Amino acid sequence: MKNIGLKSVAIATTALATTLFTASAQAEDTGTAETWLEEGARVVAEKAAEPVNTKRAKNVILFVGDGMGISTLTAGRILEGQMQGKSGEENYLSFERFPYTALVKTYNVDAQVPDSAGTASALNTGSKTRIGVINTAPTQPNGQCAGAMETALTPLAHYAEKIGMATGIVSTARLTHATPAAVYAHSPSRGWENDGELPEEAVANGCRDIAQQILNPIGGNGLEVALGGGRRNFQPLGTGEGRRKDGRDLTQEWMASDSSAAYVENEQSLAQVDIANTSRLLGLFDNSHMQFEAQRGDEQPDLAEMTEVAIKMLQKNDGGYYLMVEAGRIDHGHHGGSAKAALYDTVALSKAVRKAMEMVDLDETMILVTADHSHVFTMAGYPKRGNPIFGLVTGPGETEPTLAKDGKPYTTLAYQNGPGAVQGERKHLTEEDIAAPDFRPQALVPTRSETHGGEDVGLFAIGPRAHIVRGTIEQNVIFHIMDYALDLRKRASE
Ligand SMILES: [Zn+2]
Repeated sequence: MKNIGLKSVAIATTALATTLFTASAQAEDTGTAETWLEEGARVVAEKAAEPVNTKRAKNVILFVGDGMGISTLTAGRILEGQMQGKSGEENYLSFERFPYTALVKTYNVDAQVPDSAGTASALNTGSKTRIGVINTAPTQPNGQCAGAMETALTPLAHYAEKIGMATGIVSTARLTHATPAAVYAHSPSRGWENDGELPEEAVANGCRDIAQQILNPIGGNGLEVALGGGRRNFQPLGTGEGRRKDGRDLTQEWMASDSSAAYVENEQSLAQVDIANTSRLLGLFDNSHMQFEAQRGDEQPDLAEMTEVAIKMLQKNDGGYYLMVEAGRIDHGHHGGSAKAALYDTVALSKAVRKAMEMVDLDETMILVTADHSHVFTMAGYPKRGNPIFGLVTGPGETEPTLAKDGKPYTTLAYQNGPGAVQGERKHLTEEDIAAPDFRPQALVPTRSETHGGEDVGLFAIGPRAHIVRGTIEQNVIFHIMDYALDLRKRASE
């Protein structure tokens, strides 16, 4: 029964592409009643026959699309399909074919609409906590160091390391940013990314900045691989754009931590890493966040390349591994009101998950894909099938854009708030306007940065014990799903 999940996913994609596209190429992508009926029955037969794998998982990979709400998934899958010359709606992102899904409630204990720090803490520790904190207890005030370490939450990587599993992080954001930080650090404030950010109270009470904690042993020998952005928080003032005031160069300390540890700074040197003979690998590809996929040059690897190297590093360990991969900039695209930046990064996540599925045995590796929270991003109007996802709404059977009550066209994608808000009269948008790389779809409420959305996000699961992923769950339950799949804390307490 090796790779049963992967095989059925691959077959499903091919079958769908063939049925829908050959049937619809001539006739406006409608398919026929027969092709829809056949395809629907085939999906049900496949689901009815799906075997349940109750074995213990050896490895777990948790993918987090930061800010990847449901509307981002839908628009992202249409973009991915349209990039392949298809009409788009029939496409599935790589993980949308996983056999098990659930809806996830994302609020923080003190916030109806959450941030990435509180949510990443829930994913990694099994307990919800406050907005803006990394792995501190829900009772601990945000930004207060006194008492924080005594009540700190224990992250999954601690238990994993304790039983000899390998651990790793990949992110297109700074490795000190909220989501990756929750894998390896504790901090009463997500803002304490380097020592220069710590207030006096924090220093006096012994709190440490997030970057230096990447060298922590966590529970065993520490992270085996860490790839992403944020170099400035690891290097001292005076070295490049280094911001550390304590004079420490954490990249050097990483190298010194083991005789076969390695540190890389660009795509070329990442490709040349001698994986078999490297015990610990740190890659910092940007001073701050890595580039958006839509603007990525040839100096920086994409999310799939980093994921591939990380899995190769971790697969060397016979005792299994825990890897968290974050598509960190979907969130930043949305915050800037740029649907293009957000959606191309969503497609990059789909590619990274596909790469992981090719590399692992899904009979022994659980893969989870989720988001930490949503955004106020919508897909609206009645655009016709295959209408360009970044385009103006043009209705079925129409050739000219649909006009709003003010006599002006509008885009399918829009935001409830953000920097794309139009104060006063709306502009009469042209095809040229919307084609510009920096075009922002219209927002309603003018805010400096577009905000997170508070509705549920999806969780997609495949692999051993993934069948427990169902229903509507609190976000901290995702930790417990991974714990259950690995028998992790049980093994760690033996
Ligand atoms: Zn955000």
